[in-house]
Amino acid sequence: PQTHAPMLWFDGALVRTDALQAPLTTHAMHYGTGVFEGIRSYATRDGAAVFRLHEHLERMRKGAELLGIDLDVSQATKATLQTLRANGHRDAYIRPLAWLGTGSIGLDVAALSQHLMVATMPNVVHLGGNHTRLTVSPWRRNPASSLPPLKLCGGYVNSILAKREAKARGFDEALFVDEDGFVVECTGANVFMVRGGWVTAVEHRDALPGITRDTMITLSGARSRPVTLGGLLEADEVFVCGTAAEVTAIKALDRREFGDNPVTRELAALYARVVRGEEPGHGAWLTSV
Ligand code: PMP
Repeated sequence: PQTHAPMLWFDGALVRTDALQAPLTTHAMHYGTGVFEGIRSYATRDGAAVFRLHEHLERMRKGAELLGIDLDVSQATKATLQTLRANGHRDAYIRPLAWLGTGSIGLDVAALSQHLMVATMPNVVHLGGNHTRLTVSPWRRNPASSLPPLKLCGGYVNSILAKREAKARGFDEALFVDEDGFVVECTGANVFMVRGGWVTAVEHRDALPGITRDTMITLSGARSRPVTLGGLLEADEVFVCGTAAEVTAIKALDRREFGDNPVTRELAALYARVVRGEEPGHGAWLTSV
């Protein structure tokens, strides 16, 4: 058991979280000028291991580049592993964040300070487990032509509006659908469907290229293609996936109820074995802590 405040890695050193403060003029706080990741580590037979760490940090680097933030992936890798070790975490959620700090309150970000932190926490915010009820959001997803689907902090205001609206109507999660009726993704997870035994990964240019999505395509042989809302409603099973959500069966999409989701259950169990190093052939996805 932890006897002191958890540690986090901040600009090169491990610090107790209760000893940290950020200035109120932090640029990212005013404009959302930061980029983050959501990563998981799992307890495996050979100790804790981070799942697809490199892919997560590489995606973060792309987002950082857009904001003019230099993110050193090898430094962020070391910071992640150090923080996990310092906190003694095995099954953990890992939250790296790079952001623009102080120096100006204007929109020209060239002269701002840049920061990096990595926090790890033992608890992960899940969806509603396999009772998750989805609803079509009245909000549109940020179009990629305005805000690329990367984990830019400000972009998540869009997800938060949709999540709030869905929760207010008694649902667990919102489904973004575009103006032509094509499914985009959820607020923090990608969408799959199963029909007649065939698995389809919903493809959309405005959706985050999910690492769990990529994993599930590899594991299930799913075909990636655009899907309409009508197509999703005709599926036998729908599931969503993401680092935090893992593989979550959808119980209902608005008034459409789904059955007991046998294919999803099998894929969720396979994913759980892969992330814990219990399936041969996927060891390259794990980084030992
Ligand atoms: N879409 C959005 C909007 C997300 O925030 C996430 C979580 N990162 C995902 C999809 C799933 O991505 P990943 O599998 O890489 O966690």
